[in-house]
Amino acid sequence: MRIPFIAANWKMFKTVHEAFAFTREFAIAVKDIADVEIVLAPPFTAVHTVAEAARNSRIGVAGQDVYWEREGAFTGEVSAGMLKEAGAEYVIIGHSERRRLFHESDETVNKKLTAALGADLTPIVCIGETLDQRERNETLTVLDRQIKAGLDGLTGDQIASLVIAYEPVWAIGTGRNATPEQAGEAHAHIRSRLRQWFGAHAADLCHVIYGGSVKPDNIHELVLLPDVDGALVGGASLDVRAFTDIVARSRQSAV
Ligand code: PEP
Repeated sequence: MRIPFIAANWKMFKTVHEAFAFTREFAIAVKDIADVEIVLAPPFTAVHTVAEAARNSRIGVAGQDVYWEREGAFTGEVSAGMLKEAGAEYVIIGHSERRRLFHESDETVNKKLTAALGADLTPIVCIGETLDQRERNETLTVLDRQIKAGLDGLTGDQIASLVIAYEPVWAIGTGRNATPEQAGEAHAHIRSRLRQWFGAHAADLCHVIYGGSVKPDNIHELVLLPDVDGALVGGASLDVRAFTDIVARSRQSAV
């Protein structure tokens, strides 16, 4: 059985100073928790600082995005190699805010994934339907399209190393959760498609985590679902105490 994977997406919050202070305090708070894979995704400006502050702890660091070219005239972009060198081991790709506000597509997600894997970063790939799509009963079709086009060309071994975050867009930052039935159905569907398209090894090893208004009081029931391997946490990850509680309550021993 895999240990839970809990990642903090800080979005565009926290200065370098704030990120440093959080990480030092958080590292002490979780120092005895060995059975959760923990990742912090600060803004680019704080990646190196957080990696330094998390040194000698079990906390990993992620970028929130990446560009697919190695280097060049791409003002504002950051490459996978640069992230890696700054201390990141993971990168979030295709977050719904990037898809909605910055017009990212499954095709750009695919290019970013390939670049991240090439630089030895573990991608945390976000997929999920909008409220309109759910109401039109298109959830599973949307997930199929995002998996097929987003993961196109990856090998079974590469899929096995991924983290896929199922994030229903209507549950992000809204305080509105998917019910256990809704999350369970989507996760089981994702896992079965991974098995069908990439093989049993890929489907069994890939982490499929849930995101959308995860809080200390709902993490428990989410990780009890058979196909939920952890969570990507936005708002509640900005507070040391709340995020520590989420990590602690995600543990197998706590459920
Ligand atoms: C996210 O940013 O990926 C997220 C799930 O945010 P929140 O927890 O605030 O809904």
